[in-house]
Amino acid sequence: IWHPCSQMKDYEELPPIVIDRAKGSYVYDVGGKAYIDIISSWWCNLLGHCHPAITAALQAQLEKLEHVIFANFSHVPAIELAEALAGLVPAGLAKFHFSDNGSASVECALKMSFQYQLQSGHAEKNKFMCLSEGYHGETIGALSVGSMDVFTKMYRPMLIDGVLRIQAPDCYRCAFGKTRETCGCECAVHARGMFEKHAHETCAFILEPLVQGSAGMRIYPPLYLKQIRGLCDRYGVILIADEIATGFGRTGKLFACEHAGISPDIMCLSKGITGGYLPFSLTVTTEEIYRAFYADYSEGRAFMHSHTYSGNPLGCSAALAVLDTLRRERILEGAREKAVYLSEALSRAFGDHPHVGEIRHLGLINAIELVRDKKTKEGFAGGLRMGYQIYKKALEKGLLLRPLGDVLYFNPPLTIETETLDEAVRLCREAVADVLS
Ligand code: PLP
Repeated sequence: IWHPCSQMKDYEELPPIVIDRAKGSYVYDVGGKAYIDIISSWWCNLLGHCHPAITAALQAQLEKLEHVIFANFSHVPAIELAEALAGLVPAGLAKFHFSDNGSASVECALKMSFQYQLQSGHAEKNKFMCLSEGYHGETIGALSVGSMDVFTKMYRPMLIDGVLRIQAPDCYRCAFGKTRETCGCECAVHARGMFEKHAHETCAFILEPLVQGSAGMRIYPPLYLKQIRGLCDRYGVILIADEIATGFGRTGKLFACEHAGISPDIMCLSKGITGGYLPFSLTVTTEEIYRAFYADYSEGRAFMHSHTYSGNPLGCSAALAVLDTLRRERILEGAREKAVYLSEALSRAFGDHPHVGEIRHLGLINAIELVRDKKTKEGFAGGLRMGYQIYKKALEKGLLLRPLGDVLYFNPPLTIETETLDEAVRLCREAVADVLS
């Protein structure tokens, strides 16, 4: 097996941990050892592993219909899911296009916005804007609007030309020399300059609302998102909100866009939508964008974009069970209380640590940035692989922590128990102490 996002040679020293079963916030290996899944298995497990309601919904669906072509055919789980989400997504979003993973939903959003501009008489608007340090997936279009060298650099000759990168807000290491206290939203001023210069040739702006996850859970203020929404409106640029990582309660609201009170023109959803059970995604858009594709077939305006597993009924059933559980069990309310509990526990455990530069949080997403020098914010030398050393130590102790570089983060299932959070904080502190002492 060639594992994802791994240097396989590392596996000589740390072979893959073979997981046998899982329950709630724990996964268990074949030897019975338990690991707290504090990263929700790459941020997708929303309600704990093997949740009875999702499992039951899938079992019932399996007895009826496992899959059917979604072009010219439909089924009740898809219809019910679109109806249920229509009442939950930000105002104005009304049309649901189905794919089977996050990157695919981003590709769909990029093609949709490009074609929308073309079919609305704006052929000159054919470039994309994105944020520095953004991440939107691994396929060529998604990589092209991503900005993290570690994923994109190698492939640059293959990527879409002319993507315009805007300096992302980084409240810890501000590119404009500000601190949180002195911030005057200089990033938005910079963005305005880029819009003035380039909006005439830009079809869409894609961003991760409020949390740049892969960049190290970098969190920026809602005001910035609001200002970008304003610029997109003013200059006729489509705003694509990639809520793949932030959606379904991770940030304390159902969608991160709600913190800023804005609606994007296109929203990408995946990961938590099925509770982390199945590969599934949606690209949700407005009636206005949909209308630009609606015409007699002979006009050639249709969106000729599909995936074999578009609209898979099992994914839809899992998603319906997730929405039902979120509502019935008031999961978001509970998660908001646990978010306060966790951030307090982390600041008690790490607040005074000489190598913790910043602890940041939004909802249950909490990140601890390790630095060599707290004063200068200088990081550790990359070759030390500090985060990786801590990862290995944490695994020994039964904590599945998967740092992003030297940023340790907690992004647990929303249903995690406070006792499990306490245990995870304790194990994390021990792992950090073992490595950094
Ligand atoms: N967009 C964001 C913000 C993500 O965090 C990810 C994955 O981590 C993706 C897109 C890609 O999703 P997938 O891995 O399902 O292709």
